[in-house]
Parts: sequence; structure tokens; C-alpha cells
Amino acid sequence: MFDDLKGRRVLITGSTQGIGLAAAQAFARHGAKVGINGRKAPADLDSILKAMESAGGEAAFFAGDLCSSAACKSVVDAFVERFGGIDVLINNAGGLVGRKPLEEIDDEFFDAVTDLNARSALMTTKHALPHLRQSAKDSGQTASVILVGSVAGYTGGGPGAGLYGAAKAWLHNIQKNWVAFHTKEGIRFNTVSPGTFDTAFHADKDEAAKARVSTGIPMGRFGKPEECAPTFLFFASHGCSGYITGQVLDVNGGQFMP
Ligand code: NAD
Repeated sequence: MFDDLKGRRVLITGSTQGIGLAAAQAFARHGAKVGINGRKAPADLDSILKAMESAGGEAAFFAGDLCSSAACKSVVDAFVERFGGIDVLINNAGGLVGRKPLEEIDDEFFDAVTDLNARSALMTTKHALPHLRQSAKDSGQTASVILVGSVAGYTGGGPGAGLYGAAKAWLHNIQKNWVAFHTKEGIRFNTVSPGTFDTAFHADKDEAAKARVSTGIPMGRFGKPEECAPTFLFFASHGCSGYITGQVLDVNGGQFMP
């Protein structure tokens, strides 16, 4: 089904664990050339890369703290130097940073949350744009940018997560502008919007708290990172989604139905 992903050059930000890593592993199984990224190399980097290569892909790690615009550029440049271009960009780096109610939000926290969730995606996309354009031109098919939004982008987020929810809503929104002005260059923009997935993102919750959250999910449980991965394959594959752009796909066990 995803045959056309073989050999595609896929850069996934924030992908040393969790949802990003599960997506990277899925692309590797389909024969893609995959760049994973994190602020620094994880302790098990060698075994991660080896497993992706034995699954049939090519894999490399590109260090960079994407809160910095300069790092967004250098990660894109290093990926292009290694693989010769970019066909698919997945802006997955993101996170809560912390939980702060409105009264406690200061400039430093504001910058940290918006840099990680909004600036990183915009700057990485900006620097990838010439390569995505070239990919579309060379292949005669579309290149694909995938943002990672959140159920919090609709609901406003849980306690102390208002800024995070707003940054995710910003992503849901800004792709509309990119669709309006870059579709004729052969680039598609779509958002995967996860509900509640069992990753380090929820490290602050014990089993009792997870059980409470699960009661608000019709499927009665958190998602597993590998259950989100096929959605990225779908939006990356021109064969599957070549006429789909500007959409938000909610992967949330029924937690929220916009
Ligand atoms: P995670 O904490 O397991 O993974 C986050 C990844 O981002 C890690 O690989 C980490 O190294 C990387 N990262 C963090 N800061 C970075 C930085 N400054 N520069 C580069 N990389 C950085 O979390 P996850 O649940 O896998 O989250 C992945 C994405 O999904 C995030 O954008 C998150 O906001 C979103 N999301 C997660 C959930 C959930 O319930 N887990 C729900 C909605 C949205």
C-alpha cells in the first residue's frame, strides 16, 4: 500500500523516542531514507539506527535543539548533505515544557513553549522549502509536510497547558496559509493531531491518573505510538494522499470529534 515510500527521503524532527521514533521505524520498514533528530543523541542511538537499517531503511541521526532557528537550518542542511534532498518533512518536535497556569506564565516560559512547538515547525519548514520544491519538480509528484498538532489545539489543553494548546492550534491554522501559497509548487501540508498517547509526554501521570484520563476516551485507553505511525505514512505517500492537503487527521480513540 505504501510502496512509493521506498527510497523517499524523510526528515522527522524530535524522533529519538515516542511518536516520532515509531513513525521513523515505520518509514524504515517501507524502505525510506530516514533522518531522526533530537537535542542530543540518545544512549541507544546505535541500536536504533541498526534496527532501522535491518528493517530495510537507511537511517541517520541529526542533532539539533530546534528551539533555535539556526539549528532548524543546520539540521535541514545536514540531512540534505547526507541524502541529497528532502521529499517528506515531519515536524514532530514538541511538548508541554511544563504546566503553568496563566498567573505564572512569564516571558521565559512563553518563549520556551512557543519556540518548541511553533517556531521549530515554521523555521524547519522554511529551510526545507527549496528542497521540497525541488523534490516535487524532479519526481513530478507531490512533496509532503506533516505537522503534529494535538487534541489540545481544539480543547485548549488541560491544567497549565493553555500555551501548549494555543501553540498547537497555531499549527492547525498556519498550514492553511501554506496550502494557499505553496500548493502550486507541488507541496502538500497536513496535520496529524494525536489525542492521548502513552509516551514520555505523560511521565507526570501515575497509573491512577492515566486510568482517570482513559475514562474520557471512548476506546478506554491511551494510544500506542505505533498506532499513530501509519497516519504519517499515509500523508507522506503520494499514492495514498496525493490529492489531500490542508487537512487535520485526528488520531485519538474518539476522545474529541471536531
Ligand atoms: P516525547 O516526549 O516522547 O517525544 C518528544 C521528542 O521530541 C523526543 O524525541 C525529544 O528528544 C524531542 N525534542 C524535545 N525537545 C526538542 C528540541 N528542542 N529539539 C529537538 N527535538 C526535541 O513525546 P511524544 O508524545 O512522542 O510527542 C511527539 C509529538 O506529539 C509532540 O509534538 C507532542 O506535542 C505531540 N503530541 C503528543 C501527545 C501525547 O499524548 N503523547 C498528544 C498530542 C500531541
